[in-house]
Amino acid sequence: MDYKLNILLGGVTLFALQGCQTGPQADKAKQQPNVIYVFPDQLRNCALEFWGQEGFRDNVNFRNDPTHTPRLNDFAREAVVLSSAQSNCPLSSPHRGSLLTGMYPNRSGVPLNCNSDRPISSLREDAQCVSDVFSRAGYDCAYFGKLHADFPTPDDPANPGHYVEEQDPVWDTYTPPERRHGFNYWYSYGTFDEHKNPHYWDTEGKRHAPREWSPLHEAARVVSYLKNEGNVRDTSKPFFIMVGMNPPHSPYRSLDDCMEQDYNLYKDRPLDSLLVRPNADPTMEKAASAPYYFASVTGVDRAFGQILDALKELGLDENTIVVFSSDHGETMCSQRTTDPKNSPYAESMNVPFLVRYPGKLTPRVDDLLLSSPDIMPTLLGMAGLADSIPSEVQGRNYAPLFFDPQAQVERPTGALYIQNVDGDKDAQGKVTSYFPSSRGIKTARYTLALYIDRKEHKLVKSLLFDDQEDPYQQHNLPLEKHPEVVKELCAQMAAQLKAIGDPWYEQRILADLIPYGEN
Ligand code: CA
Repeated sequence: MDYKLNILLGGVTLFALQGCQTGPQADKAKQQPNVIYVFPDQLRNCALEFWGQEGFRDNVNFRNDPTHTPRLNDFAREAVVLSSAQSNCPLSSPHRGSLLTGMYPNRSGVPLNCNSDRPISSLREDAQCVSDVFSRAGYDCAYFGKLHADFPTPDDPANPGHYVEEQDPVWDTYTPPERRHGFNYWYSYGTFDEHKNPHYWDTEGKRHAPREWSPLHEAARVVSYLKNEGNVRDTSKPFFIMVGMNPPHSPYRSLDDCMEQDYNLYKDRPLDSLLVRPNADPTMEKAASAPYYFASVTGVDRAFGQILDALKELGLDENTIVVFSSDHGETMCSQRTTDPKNSPYAESMNVPFLVRYPGKLTPRVDDLLLSSPDIMPTLLGMAGLADSIPSEVQGRNYAPLFFDPQAQVERPTGALYIQNVDGDKDAQGKVTSYFPSSRGIKTARYTLALYIDRKEHKLVKSLLFDDQEDPYQQHNLPLEKHPEVVKELCAQMAAQLKAIGDPWYEQRILADLIPYGEN
């Protein structure tokens, strides 16, 4: 409906115009909130500067990294900030599969990181993704940046029958329209790690290769979309935007990877003043990456701020839910591992999760143990679409707890830890199954992970930490010395693994420890 006419007629007449095609839609757009979900890759929760500041530091038992994140510091004061959001399967593709479908890796279609050797790991085309639901609810849906949830196929738009890159296995990929799950605007790629030489395929499949640091380029594209430059969206509709930034993901070793102005903030600091966690080893070779990693975090903070500025400038900030998160964390020399992710350590599993919804959410810190599959139903719930959550979704809608911490919704007592590796391979070397190498659980107090061998599925390794007494997880507690704790944690694991139909439940793995019950 014409805006002036709407004013002239007023609300009463609007009711009489319900049958009018544009009237209710415009009204709906006004009521339905826009949603922007920004998730850089590999950004650990402790890398947010505000955790060391007044109003936040008393809510966590870890030291924040010595980063500069001025925009997120301000944003946190306008948001519900989760201190204990967990990436259950802390690896790119499995998290993204859960984020999009609301399902665990055994159901989302994405149990492993996606590449051309793993046809069994690809976002299910038949799954109702968060964007499918928003699209059906009348939203314009736009995706920017890294997707990394699809099995690469030889469908380069510029070179049909070929992959988009020449390497074996192929990691990067083009996502054709039929696999975009309701996103009607596209500016994305699979996965590609040259941060100042990124590329994207647009809605029509045209490739763009800007020579610009990717988070800043993507922020500019989001701003252009918000401003509706080129008439790319229907301004009578609310929008749902996802922005998958690649930094602070590796590489993080030179000025090819981050902005110099950000690097300058960290370059002269001794490594032991950057790696402040007591479980970090600044003598590791990887320690040289710390200034680049933190510079990338600061650059992401600036890019995120540019999106916030545009929302405000356009008067869209009041009716837009803005979420900032990540797909998993980064160990960065903690626990003496060179693997940045995929482990149950706090640096790897604990991700940022901040939600701003002006006038609807009261800023505060909450220790909700949010799991990756909970994000989709919770976003839909916050946008007023709880009734549209697909029945197949395994995550829970915790939106009521964001609106009111006292809401009558049962809080999760634990978040599963999941690690899968390649299973069987065919004659061509293609992976035909996945092996569920580890399962565990993170509760408010403990972290437990149990690892099994491939052949007999016997316990080969365990990690058990008292995160309250030992927040940096430096003392692996022997299971036999803590039978009551193990019993309680395994009982929780059993219930959750059963509820999601996990392979550990289906195969009754470690049934001597995990009480799965009869059926
Ligand atoms: Ca990742």
